[in-house]
Amino acid sequence: MNTSIIKSFLSFFLLASPFLKIEAKNVKQEKPNIIVILADDLGYGDLVCYGGTKLETPNIDRLAANGIRFTSGYAPAGTSTPSRYSLLTGQYAWRKKVSILPGTAPMSISQKSLTLAGMMHQAGYATGCVGKWHLGLGDGKLDYNKLVKPSPNDIGFDYSFIFPATNDRTPCVYMENGKVVGLDSNDPIQVSYGKPVGNWPTGLEHPELLTLKYKQGHDQTIVNGVSRIGYMTGGTNALWKDEDMTDVLTGKAVNYIRQNAQKPFFLYFATHSIHEPRIPNPRFKGSSECGVYGDVIQELDWSVGEILKTLEEMKIRKNTLIVFLSDNGSAVRFEFGYKDGGLENLNGHEPAGVLKDDKNSLYEGGTRTPFIVSWPVRIKPAVSDAPVGFIDLFASFAKLLNVNLQEGDAPDSRNALPVLLGKATKTKHNEVLIQNDGGKLAIRIGDWKFIPKESYGKDELYNLRNDISEKLNVAEGNSEIVKNFRRRLEVIRNTPNVRK
Ligand code: CA
Repeated sequence: MNTSIIKSFLSFFLLASPFLKIEAKNVKQEKPNIIVILADDLGYGDLVCYGGTKLETPNIDRLAANGIRFTSGYAPAGTSTPSRYSLLTGQYAWRKKVSILPGTAPMSISQKSLTLAGMMHQAGYATGCVGKWHLGLGDGKLDYNKLVKPSPNDIGFDYSFIFPATNDRTPCVYMENGKVVGLDSNDPIQVSYGKPVGNWPTGLEHPELLTLKYKQGHDQTIVNGVSRIGYMTGGTNALWKDEDMTDVLTGKAVNYIRQNAQKPFFLYFATHSIHEPRIPNPRFKGSSECGVYGDVIQELDWSVGEILKTLEEMKIRKNTLIVFLSDNGSAVRFEFGYKDGGLENLNGHEPAGVLKDDKNSLYEGGTRTPFIVSWPVRIKPAVSDAPVGFIDLFASFAKLLNVNLQEGDAPDSRNALPVLLGKATKTKHNEVLIQNDGGKLAIRIGDWKFIPKESYGKDELYNLRNDISEKLNVAEGNSEIVKNFRRRLEVIRNTPNVRK
């Protein structure tokens, strides 16, 4: 055979081989799949890649090692609902007075506003939502026995498999595309956050029935031996089993990836881990060296590992952009929730690492959390200390996908793409605004962090470069910085659109 015959044979082979064709198609596909994994109440020090030593988190560590691990990454708020609201709307939640919601609250996100999922949809993506919702459902006359509208499916997601509020709140059921899964119409669900409904026992009246005792507040209807916030009755066949939640939710996320592997997809995977009640599957019980708190983190790590494994199996890992986040800092030090021994068995583990305070605080432990971005075909592994808030993911992804945001769309989200891709050491705005559940504010600009006296009673200023633990308030000696930061906060409060 001469050379030209060999060449034509080779080109015939290349064109004819279905396997090579698929590979070539995958390489050509420019739009990455995008997965946002949002953990619940995971603290800054809770992963080995962020300094944890009493537990093992090999899968999330691998994700970090293959991407950018941000050491100054922030949730927009210190609690669940406002943080999630800002992620999905690109708007500061305090503007709409959105705070922690009961399981009977109406949908907090307007159907008129463009959501992160809606924006992805515009860019041609399949959009899925799996896990914790906690953003309200329905139009104010919520009936869990009917198709609930609006649900995530009405604000930009093609597919949703969620649980409505939190894993310590009623109703303790899953919903798929707006309908309670496994509901028997002869056993209708009632939910109440006011007067008790039905005759199911409560933790307050029947503590002898509890397999997990509550500390405070969580003393209403008992489901699976755990008393919850809120009352419910009915829907017995639809009730979740706490120890199976990670398996169920991970399974749904994995299915979603498998079913959508051939098109660009966006998956919002919001885990119930590591929020209370901390009830790991028996195979993770006692698996860490820091008690049940570490066990549920290891279970979360397993879940992330299943996602990675699925992407690898489907041969789409390299062009999948994964962002791993937590909605707020650790809650294990709270005298709230359940007596699960979490706090007592930490064994030296530091949930917030070197940071001050925990969930719901304006100090760093409230919102500075694990923040990892991995996209093997585009991002070189690195560690970045650029201040970056995840409210900026909306505008950054819009930029990446060439979607033009209109003035009212994601009004407080600004492009941080160069930082997220490792092409810049700081964002143009270099600013992160954070809030607690009551809507009190703090602001970080560059290395400086300012908490105005309206928040905790006195002006506080910290230089995070020298004082990451916020030990030394230097507001007094830096009146000019305080004045400027106060002015900046006023501008943000009075400008409905920070991205101009
Ligand atoms: Ca949370």
